[in-house]
Amino acid sequence: MTTPVTIIKGDGVGAEVVEAALVVLDSTGVDFEWEIADAGAAANIKVGDALPDETVRSIRRTRICLKGPLEAPEGPGNRSADARLKSELELHTNLRPLRSYPGPKVAVRDIDLVVVRENMDGELAPFERYLDHDGEVVQSVSSTTRAAWERIIQCALDFALRTHRKVVTLVHGGNTLRLTSEVIVRAGCDLARYYGGIRFEVMAASEAAVNLVTSPARFDVVVTTTAFGYTLSDVAAGLLGSLELVPEMNAGDDAVVFGPAHGTAPDLAGKGLANPTATILAGAVMLRHLGEASSADLIDSTVRTVLAEGKHVTADLGGRASTAEFGQHVAGIVRRLRSDGTSTR
Ligand code: ATP
Repeated sequence: MTTPVTIIKGDGVGAEVVEAALVVLDSTGVDFEWEIADAGAAANIKVGDALPDETVRSIRRTRICLKGPLEAPEGPGNRSADARLKSELELHTNLRPLRSYPGPKVAVRDIDLVVVRENMDGELAPFERYLDHDGEVVQSVSSTTRAAWERIIQCALDFALRTHRKVVTLVHGGNTLRLTSEVIVRAGCDLARYYGGIRFEVMAASEAAVNLVTSPARFDVVVTTTAFGYTLSDVAAGLLGSLELVPEMNAGDDAVVFGPAHGTAPDLAGKGLANPTATILAGAVMLRHLGEASSADLIDSTVRTVLAEGKHVTADLGGRASTAEFGQHVAGIVRRLRSDGTSTR
């Protein structure tokens, strides 16, 4: 059966890393139909809108999107296409799988965790206003609802079940955000009762920060607020080497958007220097979401092998391969393993 997927190449290095990922996805033999759509600065220039209706319609139709990074416009009041995409499609939960890959830049080798965070409310979209005329006193109010947290925590628990993970740790603000923490923790503990096979634990952010650095292997799935999620996932990305190795998934009830966690890297755009690992791994996360676990495993293990060898990787990892060569090399191995019968597909 053909699976339609909306593709947004995006800005900066987006086109290069997405094209490399598509070559790898095509090599798995899964029957995809790519529906190319525009968003970001490129769309703004082309049609005067960074998120054209046609793009949103395409994602609503396919329910799945693989996208490159999108440029965030400067200045207050200019909402980025990413922010608009999240609110139009109600992509309430962000998931970042963070895993140590073999290679020279890796600081810590035993990281294998998923940070799940609130994507739309909380500290990301506070109500803010000046309380004085000089712009020196600001009030910010963020809101937390049990209903929103049930969705986010359920997303984390379901992801843990689907990917055979055993522990879900709910990280909250402790006494600094006492009422917010209470709502989140109560929602989590009530929901977790329905997930017998998963150990559910609750931890304050200060303790989680120390544990992440001293014993990262104790974490499996971490579910937390926007600000703590950003911070903990960036700390984990630093420990495992770089954000260029980290994919992400923005999930709503009706659509899921996959892509790299890094930005547009305009300094590298058009030069073939961008590392496509995060986008290729985002393709693997997408395959797993679509129930194509054996193809996802094949991409994951091939990327690990290529990074460990260190010969066909991009300059940021010490190699000389271009973005396209990296993708073609991974795709070539995937195709060979499939035709050797090493893979089940
Ligand atoms: P944005 O504002 O677009 O969200 P940013 O400016 O915070 O992003 P990035 O664009 O992600 O940050 O990148 C910062 C730097 O990291 C880039 O200038 C680039 O040198 C490096 N970098 C980012 N992505 C990649 C990549 N895929 N491959 C190699 N280097 C990268």
